[in-house]
Amino acid sequence: MAKVKSVFVCQNCGAQSPKWMGKCASCGEWNSYVEELITSGNSSAQVNYKRSSKPEKLQK
Ligand SMILES: [Zn+2]
Repeated sequence: MAKVKSVFVCQNCGAQSPKWMGKCASCGEWNSYVEELITSGNSSAQVNYKRSSKPEKLQK
């Protein structure tokens, strides 16, 4: 299942923060953080799929 995670991204310098900040700690811009949604889970699902898949055997 994909999990939707929100992160705040500074539109001025691209810095990310788990919580909203009035002033960017990276570039010093005020009110530049915008909430963006990140869908995670696909990468972990692929890892699980690879682990469950059969190991390739070398045939000569
Ligand atoms: Zn910034």
